Amino acid sequence: MIQTEDMEFAPRVISPEAAAEDSEAELGLRPQTLNEYIGQDKVKENLAVYIEAAKRRNEPLDHVLLYGPPGLGKTTLSGIIAHELGVNLRVTTGPAIEKTGDLVSLLTSLSDNDVLFIDEIHRLSRAVEEILYPALEDRVIDIIIGKGPSARSIRMDLRPFTLIGATTRAGQLSAPLRDRFGVIQRLELYSKDQLADIVKRSALILGIPCDTDGAAEIAGRARGTPRIANRLLKRVRDFADVMGNGRITRDIASIALSRLEIDQLGLDSLDRRMLTMIIKGYGGGPVGLETLASAIGEESVTLEDVCEPFLMQLGFLGRTPRGRVATKLAYEHLGIAAPDDQSGSSDGQLTF
Ligand code: ADP
Repeated sequence: MIQTEDMEFAPRVISPEAAAEDSEAELGLRPQTLNEYIGQDKVKENLAVYIEAAKRRNEPLDHVLLYGPPGLGKTTLSGIIAHELGVNLRVTTGPAIEKTGDLVSLLTSLSDNDVLFIDEIHRLSRAVEEILYPALEDRVIDIIIGKGPSARSIRMDLRPFTLIGATTRAGQLSAPLRDRFGVIQRLELYSKDQLADIVKRSALILGIPCDTDGAAEIAGRARGTPRIANRLLKRVRDFADVMGNGRITRDIASIALSRLEIDQLGLDSLDRRMLTMIIKGYGGGPVGLETLASAIGEESVTLEDVCEPFLMQLGFLGRTPRGRVATKLAYEHLGIAAPDDQSGSSDGQLTF
């Protein structure tokens, strides 16, 4: 990728997308069992029952669809499911399965009851999806041999397996694909307490001395996302090493996070730019997502997948049929005086 200096395209510290720097430590931080997996209690309780039932019957677990914003633990959960089932896990992504042959070789390489995890499953090509339907429903695949008039199709049986699909956009999944998942679970943004537990756990694993207050400070600014909490922990550690004695205290965490331009609530400069543009550029909205994205020079998917879930959870942003609106709380947070009729005009139309 070409990076130009004048652009503000340095990777965001609080981007929930996985970054290269996450990968080495990532493996050690990923919980291995349902007990170690913090939060998402409803999802865990349900999965524990399904896993136990599948094990007792010695059958594969029903196909599972996990959806929710990036960095909430979908990949981690699929590893846990495979681990709890005592089977192998194969990990791939929708865009990586380019040809139908790629999927066929993946499916035929699985052992009994194995888990195949496909991240970004909404990005599978139509042709690949068509192969997947009979594989999921009847455990068979139809392979075309030869070309032209002499081409014929042969049907191959597959071993029993579980597909776990993950997506940030359940709405973009085709209906026939969605219908083939027996278990559909939505992951929610994490509470501050849960994130503080995650930070403390990660600090312990990484050998970083961290006060309870320091962990809480990081958790409070991690926008509900474990991946961001872990990344902030590592950045704050740098400040603790250089500015203090290596221990993460509330003060050190607070200074470090301010330096990273992450405010008290976890908003970063992109969130603030987005809200400020709605308010100052479009009178508080409504403004269409595409218009907004081009006005601030950002991809609309980033705004939709990354900024919006969090800003909506804070109650700073509303979606109306005519576009996005900034709420009174957003005006207050940014220290901008709200027009008197602002809250009244948009409240009735918000569709959360
Ligand atoms: P996703 O697949 O949803 O993008 P990941 O499963 O890759 O997210 O999770 C990102 C990181 O956050 C993981 O490395 C893991 O360490 C951490 N993590 C996610 N969920 C939890 C959790 N419930 N408890 C502890 N750590 C978690």
